[in-house]
Amino acid sequence: MNIDKLYQQTILEYSKNKENNRELDEVSAIERGHNPSCGDDLTLMVKEKDGIIEDASFLGLGCAISTASTNMLIDTIVGKSVDEAKEIVDIFFKMLSGEEITDDERDMIGDAEILEMVANMPARIKCATLSWHSARVVIDKIKTK
Ligand code: ZN
Repeated sequence: MNIDKLYQQTILEYSKNKENNRELDEVSAIERGHNPSCGDDLTLMVKEKDGIIEDASFLGLGCAISTASTNMLIDTIVGKSVDEAKEIVDIFFKMLSGEEITDDERDMIGDAEILEMVANMPARIKCATLSWHSARVVIDKIKTK
């Protein structure tokens, strides 16, 4: 199996994961992300307690890359502190801007590192970053509460 196939398969698996596609019983901050060029419309919800992201989920519909990316985001930030989550989001944007990231940074963003290849696909960057933009807004909302 070549690398492209492996990437595609991983993205497909993440996009099919429905575990995070649900309402949260308690929401600390919420942000809708809309990408008209593709039709992705995903709302990110985060539950924070004592500076820790206890739970996160999303509602809405999007393409395989946007929903896979959202699941990777949620899987990576749940259980982290709000400050760590902010750092993770910053690393993700750094990677997608084509900048080199360190091995430690790679470890921090988890499977989202797979989306590095999207940096070379301008048409899909908006899909991959949609929920990460929402995460940035949500984190700001929590930090300024
Ligand atoms: Zn899309």
